[in-house]
Amino acid sequence: MKILVVNAGSSSLKYQLIDMETEKVLAKGGCERIGINGSLLKAKGNGKEKVFTKDMPNHKVAIQLVLHALLDEQIGVIKSMEEIDAVGHRVVASGEYFKKATLVTPEVLQTLEEKTFELAPLHNPAAATGLRACMEVMPETPMVLVFDTSFHATMPEKAYLYGIAYEDYKNFGVRKYGAHGTSHKFVAGEAAKFLGKAPEELKIVTCHLGNGSSITAVDGGKCIDTSMGFTPLAGVLMGTRSGDIDASAVEFLARKKGMSHSETVTYLNKNCGVSGISGVSSDFRDLISGAKKGNKRCDLALEMFAYQTKKFVGAYAAAMGGLDCIVFTAGIGENTAPVREKVCEGLEFLGVKFNQRANAGKNDGSIREISKKNSKVKILIIPTNEELVIARETAELL
Ligand code: ADP
Repeated sequence: MKILVVNAGSSSLKYQLIDMETEKVLAKGGCERIGINGSLLKAKGNGKEKVFTKDMPNHKVAIQLVLHALLDEQIGVIKSMEEIDAVGHRVVASGEYFKKATLVTPEVLQTLEEKTFELAPLHNPAAATGLRACMEVMPETPMVLVFDTSFHATMPEKAYLYGIAYEDYKNFGVRKYGAHGTSHKFVAGEAAKFLGKAPEELKIVTCHLGNGSSITAVDGGKCIDTSMGFTPLAGVLMGTRSGDIDASAVEFLARKKGMSHSETVTYLNKNCGVSGISGVSSDFRDLISGAKKGNKRCDLALEMFAYQTKKFVGAYAAAMGGLDCIVFTAGIGENTAPVREKVCEGLEFLGVKFNQRANAGKNDGSIREISKKNSKVKILIIPTNEELVIARETAELL
């Protein structure tokens, strides 16, 4: 079985074609600048890379070009479109409308478009555009929606509710939904395999630390709490996002800076986080080199990020009543050794014995253990693979 995984943004469309028997990526690539001048597709297949420059006024043309690349003489990996058994689409927000991966029907499409757009106004309309484009170009192929929020659907009410009037939650769906669910699910599963244990036996805190960062408590294979909230603005401070902040401080800031509601939310999403604190960059590589050169605010941004992440690890150990494993994943989690060290510093009381040498080792793309042999809590670096989870869930549903 071959599954095409599609991740559509407002002006981009990334894809992978995965062979489910071997779980190998047969081809991958991405269309950039859809609807903008100078659009192009960078595609890989057969161990080769090719760039297609073609005007892509919309996502339909983009997906047509992707299929063209999959059938290409040099980099093509299939003989006909019929070899693609299904398409799995990444969707950021499901609200309470979808709890798990869902086969697309006219009703499902209607719910996606009419109910969920306001929950993720930048992301869900793009996913729907990508979906409609695929449906037009491949009308006979089953389409499946896989939601970033699904893994968090097991959170109990006490974890996902905000302290607002219960009727307001009921009427408007204002609650914690979380994000990065496919990544947390994947790395928690890989951790159990690596440790040779059943997921049911383990209490794991998964730290997805990238441009957007979230931390999740996975108890017995299920999410019981996560740091992101109604939107991915909540939790730890991130590249440019503020993370958690007192709502009254937000109103105060808006008044002082003369910002409207939407300007304030944009400010909190785009001008804050480690970028705002350091005044230098949202990229952790820049912060590390800045801190090394003595820039105090770069150092402060790194300290804040690690401190806030550590607090979630501690909180989730308490929420689960124990801790067997901490997982680091995504751009920072996989690559930034000083952040991992700072997060784990001072957690000895929980049974953490950190192995500095292993932590400083090279990232070779494999799973790495960075706790000492006698550490009660295992610490693992696990490269995430959201596309594989989407492909697996699509195949399972079929
Ligand atoms: P996104 O949320 O955009 O997917 P990523 O998971 O790619 O983000 O993480 C981006 C962050 O990872 C940046 O802050 C970057 O500095 C950090 N990072 C550190 N080292 C590397 C590296 N070798 N490759 C990629 N990202 C890295």
